[in-house]
Amino acid sequence: MPNGYRGKILRVNISTGKIWIETPEESDKNFYRRYWGGSCLGAYYLLKEIEPGIDALSPGNVLVFAASVVTGAPAPGVVKYAVIAKSPLTGGTGEALAEGYWGPELKFSGFDAIVIQGKAERPVYISIRDGQAEIKDASKLWGMDTGETTRVIRTELGDPETKVACIGPAGENLVRYASVVSDGMYMNARTGMGAVMGSKNLKAVAVRGSGSIDVADSSRIQLLADRFERHFQENFVNKAVYDAGTASFLGFLNNAGLTSSRNMQTTHFEGAAKVSGEHIHEAYFDKRVPCYSCPAACRRVLKNVEELDVDPAYGAPELEVMMALGNGCDIDDLGVLIKASELCTRYGLDYTSTGVTIAFAMECFENGVLTKKDTGGMDLTFGNASVILDLIEQIAQRRGVGALLAEGTKRAAEKLGKGAETYAMHVKGLELPLHDPRTKAMLGLSYALSPTGPDDLAVEHDTDFDANAPELFMERVATLGIWERRAATELSPEKVRMLCYLQQVFSFMDSLCLCKYAFAPCRYYSFAEMVDLISAITGWEVSLWELQKVGERRLNMQRVFNLREGLSPEQDKLPERVYAPIDSGPNKGVAMSKQEVEEAKQAYFRMRDWDPLSGWPSSEKLVELDLGWLVQMKSDANRG
Ligand code: SF4
Repeated sequence: MPNGYRGKILRVNISTGKIWIETPEESDKNFYRRYWGGSCLGAYYLLKEIEPGIDALSPGNVLVFAASVVTGAPAPGVVKYAVIAKSPLTGGTGEALAEGYWGPELKFSGFDAIVIQGKAERPVYISIRDGQAEIKDASKLWGMDTGETTRVIRTELGDPETKVACIGPAGENLVRYASVVSDGMYMNARTGMGAVMGSKNLKAVAVRGSGSIDVADSSRIQLLADRFERHFQENFVNKAVYDAGTASFLGFLNNAGLTSSRNMQTTHFEGAAKVSGEHIHEAYFDKRVPCYSCPAACRRVLKNVEELDVDPAYGAPELEVMMALGNGCDIDDLGVLIKASELCTRYGLDYTSTGVTIAFAMECFENGVLTKKDTGGMDLTFGNASVILDLIEQIAQRRGVGALLAEGTKRAAEKLGKGAETYAMHVKGLELPLHDPRTKAMLGLSYALSPTGPDDLAVEHDTDFDANAPELFMERVATLGIWERRAATELSPEKVRMLCYLQQVFSFMDSLCLCKYAFAPCRYYSFAEMVDLISAITGWEVSLWELQKVGERRLNMQRVFNLREGLSPEQDKLPERVYAPIDSGPNKGVAMSKQEVEEAKQAYFRMRDWDPLSGWPSSEKLVELDLGWLVQMKSDANRG
């Protein structure tokens, strides 16, 4: 048995009911060390098994659930899993990662990943237990929310410890930004992976295993885990999250003018103080929730929320939902935001896309593009908290104006016409996160260039390396070759170099399914400890250089997939609003410059050895990354 991974991929064709197991190392002994897991492994199956040009919501899409070679080891931060498919929002690579317990349990059940093809005739779920998989009828689960689905499956399987990743009504109704929710709390939020599940009539994947992960050096792992447990709160970011959750960053971000508000018309949010993470903590905090083998306990459960009609089992609101529905829609009613967070988790809706799409609708309404006739009489003025919960319900059920908004901002704007595109804050069809790109230029550039669409977790943020950043962060990134502080709004060739290196870090972390709240550059574990831990789990003599190459490999694979699907460099395009100066607050007057963004994009392509016009990686680059098999795909695509 290898160390860290199981060596088995479960294959399921839900059209035919065929289930089989593949052992990739039998034909390629370097398979796991080349692709590692998570989103890199997912990119491999997308490239190999999806016919070019298929509709993301057709049976031809391939859906991958992937842990990594280190997931489930008895150490902090190695808990994530990725869901990967062609995205119904972008038409390119879709992926979403979540923490919790599902990823480790998949490994304990005997598999590193599940690859699902086809479409079931009627609703089904897949149950996996100790190396055995079964397709089960889910007709009675169809229509249930994510919490109820989890409870019913556990009862049906007779095991309350079963881990369940499922969709709610949003996924069933093919809302393009529907998410996957595991154990009623942890969300694979972005790029519409829940809609892909819904399109396959796949309600859930339940996993249970009694196995454990073999590791190369358990005492070394124990030492690193003990050190984390004793000291992680010495890292102020980890401590802030432990004390008051990710929503505790809201106050700082708002005071510093770093958060897009009112559909990115400003970075000022009048009601910020009323909906801070500290407020939630003081009024409603019940208990912390750890992830598997991780004491950082970033998630939390609330109490006294019955008066808000909130089921506490869905967990406390995270930063994304507070920003997207609070700042984005100008909602300062804390009760409504807590309930809205619960509804998104209950129905399986990406928090960010939901909030940004509602903010889009509000701006359309204020400019007469949407009227009360379209909204069924609802007043969609910014700040009107009374419509938010109804709107979320309508989106999840594709009812009323919700049917339009379920398409996401890009498609809704195309349907509406009348200049609605001006109000659609998306790149490639995926809604922009609320960390304002004008105030963090490297992050903003990554919004344009990320192969999975704009993602605030695609690169560490500029403000972590500017003049005010902690010395610790600069010490950490020195090992990558980043030595100089740079202004958050700077977009120079040196900043592009910084993007390349830091993007590769986050890219390999998504391939190894490492939690970005546990590892470098800005959390407790340093790069040296990360490498040490991975080596201790796998028994491989791993280096940071090797991991950076994994990150670069994933980015190239995803770029090739996108190009093959017709996403050209022209679609690496930010919304026009980023070029308008911020109107008030600490960043008043700040805007991105179109010329600088274009030059930075060109520099990025050249640094990556990608053709600046076509976007294709050079054949030499593909071979250098041991992706020689993509050279033929490149010539086929360019011939076609
Ligand atoms: S750092 Fe937080 S989110 Fe990450 S694995 Fe640990 S508890 Fe979970």
